Amino acid sequence: MKRIAILGSTGSIGTQALELIQENSGKFEVFAVSCEKNTSLLSEQIEKFKPQIAVAADEKDALLLSRKHPGTEIFFGAKGLALAASAGADMVLNALSGTSGLVPTYEAAKAGKVIAFANKETLVAGGSIIMKAVHGSGAALLPVDSEHCAIWQCLLGNSPREVRRLVLTASGGPFRGYSLEELKNATPEQALRHPRWNMGRKITVDSATMMNKGLEIIEAKWLFDMRPEMIDVVVHPQSIVHSMVEYCDGAVIAQMGKPDMKGPIGYALAYPERLENKAGGVDFAELGSLTFEKPDEGAFACMRLARQAIKDEGSSSPVVLNAANEALVRLFLEKKIGFLDIQSNIERALEAHTPVYGLDIDGILELDKEIREGIGNDSSLHGNSA
Ligand code: NDP
Ligand code: MG
Repeated sequence: MKRIAILGSTGSIGTQALELIQENSGKFEVFAVSCEKNTSLLSEQIEKFKPQIAVAADEKDALLLSRKHPGTEIFFGAKGLALAASAGADMVLNALSGTSGLVPTYEAAKAGKVIAFANKETLVAGGSIIMKAVHGSGAALLPVDSEHCAIWQCLLGNSPREVRRLVLTASGGPFRGYSLEELKNATPEQALRHPRWNMGRKITVDSATMMNKGLEIIEAKWLFDMRPEMIDVVVHPQSIVHSMVEYCDGAVIAQMGKPDMKGPIGYALAYPERLENKAGGVDFAELGSLTFEKPDEGAFACMRLARQAIKDEGSSSPVVLNAANEALVRLFLEKKIGFLDIQSNIERALEAHTPVYGLDIDGILELDKEIREGIGNDSSLHGNSA
């Protein structure tokens, strides 16, 4: 029986992981659950899965929950998450969104945990420090992001020295084929209507701007220790090929499956086993064709910005990229800025930043806060209110 701590159990990845755990109750036990604001769902999860630990963001919420669930230890805030990540679980699933996952990942890595890892922003902001902690303690990061889980599977049994390049696939999002002119008026409602994947709001907007792929290039660099120039992106609207690895002899190994996050979540949770999926596989004859095209980096600048941010290994630029993106996505969802203001202001933030090197966790958190506050207080950004 594997005991799993699920950080971010009320989110899109977290709830799907709990469904899988319920469907495979002989294999897994829930050790910890956590939420930020959705305490009613967290309370239901505590009732159903009887975890040893639960964590809410807020102290008052934690107090209410502990009265309701005396059999579960309830903690709160960043310290609570760090504790859930490093205490008695066999595996930690990091399904938090944004930089809230940085400290818990660091704690889990230092404690030598096996971490099923969805929270890409953490590797973008703190890749160097997290990987150092992972290697230092013998911890493991098992990718949950579908592209990275695919690459992990394509690498198994092969030598990393013989890899020529990784090819990340991208669905292209809801605005695939739009011109810059058309993107100007893109609304949050349109951005949240992803053609293939049903995900949390932040990552859905990241998919619409293509920043998701930019973040994934950085995530792949750290997870697989590859130079960014070895990581290509191709748009594949059907989202059947989840990513590919090309070897030195020209052979390309692809991992395919239906676009369903339960595949990669289940693969990471059960590794080295595979879970039974009763929904069946891909019907290739029904699909007819799979297509591939070049990403339009003229209209969608975020991938270029992500590559620019990691050019200089160990610099603070990816922290700025990530924090600016999170703050700007929030403003866009609040209809305070337009769609294209996301990419133009990330570029502005990167240009204004003088990179520093070797930041520790506190330094990363400080810079992250400074960039968010700078964007939050920038009155020039709010003139565009819809
Ligand atoms: P959601 O927004 O659906 O869920 C995020 C979870 O984290 C929720 O439980 C939320 O609590 C909690 N949370 C958010 N902010 C904080 C905070 N500051 N402190 C404590 N808890 C917090 O996100 P997703 O599940 O979509 O994504 C999670 C991660 O996985 C992201 O990094 C994303 O990029 C990555 N990912 C997601 C995919 C998907 O299909 N969804 C695919 C591939 C990667 P509450 O519910 O209370 O708000
Ligand atoms: Mg992905």
